[in-house]
Amino acid sequence: MKKDNYLKTNRAFSVVRKYGWLFTVLVAVGGLWQPKLGLLVILIMAALTITSFFTGRYWCGNFCPHGSLFDVIMLPLSRNKKIPDFLYSKAMIVGFFIFFMFNFSRKILKVMQLWGEMVFLDRLGFVFVTTYLMVLIAGGLLAIFISPRTWCRFCPMGSMQKMSFNLGKALGIAQKTERRLTITNQEQCLSCGKCARVCPFQLTPYLEFSGQNQFDNIDCIKCATCVAHCPVGILSFTKDRSS
Ligand code: SF4
Ligand code: SF4
Repeated sequence: MKKDNYLKTNRAFSVVRKYGWLFTVLVAVGGLWQPKLGLLVILIMAALTITSFFTGRYWCGNFCPHGSLFDVIMLPLSRNKKIPDFLYSKAMIVGFFIFFMFNFSRKILKVMQLWGEMVFLDRLGFVFVTTYLMVLIAGGLLAIFISPRTWCRFCPMGSMQKMSFNLGKALGIAQKTERRLTITNQEQCLSCGKCARVCPFQLTPYLEFSGQNQFDNIDCIKCATCVAHCPVGILSFTKDRSS
């Protein structure tokens, strides 16, 4: 595929994906005045950890409010360039996860000292508000100057989901519940590469289908953008066939 030959196509196929970005703005900006709004992020973190145990990064492609912001608001503004390899290298993903978690835990522990005081919930909420705002600003800039989902390639919440998914697989549960991108028949594939050109994560499914005609990539966010735009309509999601 030619470098930077990515397409800006519709990625928001549900109400949640079309308007989820409003939640990001509500928490990241509204939370500056109403810090308790940040407490809603605890529910988001719990939900993404639980869903990923069963079905990998499905949350990122279907429910994440920041993902909605990147795909709906930022996509038209984005240069839509290739995401540099180093931004999703193992060193970057692991290093950023440790850095993020260290800072986040440090702030939470500091707020915990206020347990029982009137200001506790406001201060706790504010930690989540500033984290949400930081992702909005940093992720938004990366979205404009590189590609909408650049942040997502090393997002600590994505790493958490991968850990949860690996646990689900180790326990033999995720194999029964995950739905994977599947090609009906590899012989019908035109090798046009459109599935890769529209993929928000810049993955290349058409080059990686297994013997079972499935795409086994832990970073696939199951957003179905490739399914919607494959010219011959041979992509869909089906249960894991490898087990
Ligand atoms: S978009 Fe469809 S036809 Fe084109 S390469 Fe991908 S799977 Fe094959
Ligand atoms: S491979 Fe398809 S479903 Fe997976 S992230 Fe890319 S576009 Fe979405």
